[in-house]
Amino acid sequence: MNSRTEQRVALISVHGDPAVEIGKEEAGGQNVYVRQVGEALAKLGWQVDMFTRKVSAQQETIVQHSPNCRTIRLEAGAVEFVPRDDLFANLPEFVEKFLQFQQENGFVYSLVHTNYWLSSWVGMQLKEKQGSKQVHTYHSLGAVKYNTIDVIPLVAATRLAVEKQVLETAERIVATSPQEKEHMRSLVSTEGTIDIIPCGTDIAQFGCIDRQAARAKLGIDPEAKLVMYVGRFDPRKGIETLVRAVGQSQLRGPSSKLQLMIAGGSRPGQSDGIERDRIESIVAELGMNDFTTFPGRVEQEMLPYYYAAADVCVVPSHYEPFGLVAIEAMASKTPVVASDVGGLQFTVISEETGLLAPPQDVAAFSTAIDRILSSSQWRDELGEAARKRVETKFSWEGVASDLAQLYTQLLEDKPEITQPEISPEDTQKEAILAS
Ligand code: UDP
Repeated sequence: MNSRTEQRVALISVHGDPAVEIGKEEAGGQNVYVRQVGEALAKLGWQVDMFTRKVSAQQETIVQHSPNCRTIRLEAGAVEFVPRDDLFANLPEFVEKFLQFQQENGFVYSLVHTNYWLSSWVGMQLKEKQGSKQVHTYHSLGAVKYNTIDVIPLVAATRLAVEKQVLETAERIVATSPQEKEHMRSLVSTEGTIDIIPCGTDIAQFGCIDRQAARAKLGIDPEAKLVMYVGRFDPRKGIETLVRAVGQSQLRGPSSKLQLMIAGGSRPGQSDGIERDRIESIVAELGMNDFTTFPGRVEQEMLPYYYAAADVCVVPSHYEPFGLVAIEAMASKTPVVASDVGGLQFTVISEETGLLAPPQDVAAFSTAIDRILSSSQWRDELGEAARKRVETKFSWEGVASDLAQLYTQLLEDKPEITQPEISPEDTQKEAILAS
């Protein structure tokens, strides 16, 4: 790649707006991923345009994050929030508006990096209409997700078909862990090219605050044994397992310093509000009200204090394609107890940076949490090892540089270096030609 201007990429995230303030509005790992990857690529000299869907008239159409990086909100369907399972019908208009934006600006994106299956459909249309090359990150696989939930949405068949098609047709699929790649191969298709490039975290943002300073800032007892959850209220996140596990803790008692903090946003009456009510009623039923707190959504600037204040951070998901919370806690030198599933098997090394437990296994989670709470020395050793693992494997700069290399390779259209299959006849022919 010779000139800077050719280093242009459209990151497409139809339902996960990278410009919303994480922790303030309903947003999770995908929003963080797209925004961080976008900003880090821009620092490497890429011109990054992140496309998402406008959901309110109050939102700006274009948000400039840095000279080379902006979010562009397209109007596809009514300008209002639409749950992701109902968004498929809006996608043709999204494609139309994308093409219109290109036309008005006088360029065509030769490369699009799509996020989640909805955007993958948009990317496949752009490939068909104008030959854009496509990189895709799933963030969640229908084939895995539908195994972990009771009510399968109507859109499931479409989603599964689209997920198979993009795996087989995109120039490159980015799996964020070896486990996700394995799921793609065993549950989706054996065709297509997959690279493993993990998610990352801002290693400078976390890990600079010590436990007691963080507790002083948040008004938490210096002697507390603090168990932390950070994330969305969603039954798939397994918060119920965590609550029941802490309820069974051997460290629970009249003079106990055990504390449970469940951080994350929710909107009354919406799915996350309903899940929060359900969790609160389990807390009450188990008599845990006096040592359980719900601080609500934590803004990104405050997150380092919460992670640092905790003795252990628990990620009890039934399924987790990657799980940013685990590496954020690890970057903060806080050991993680996580479900032995998906990306968590890749980020958390059991007995070295935390502990893994079978998903939904209340007794196993309880034992694992107690083991870490019972030894502050071991907790600190696990925390130090966790920080080192994140520094070496999961920084956004490293992730962006791997992606930049991949994009460059695709844009230059380097032929795949594959060894030609040489038949005995070929060897004979070569020998004749050489003689
Ligand atoms: N998050 C936050 N404030 C909160 C709860 C969550 O900023 O109150 C962030 C969290 O730090 C993480 C993201 O939301 O970066 C959640 O990502 P993860 O991959 O763990 O889960 P997902 O939401 O994608 O299922």
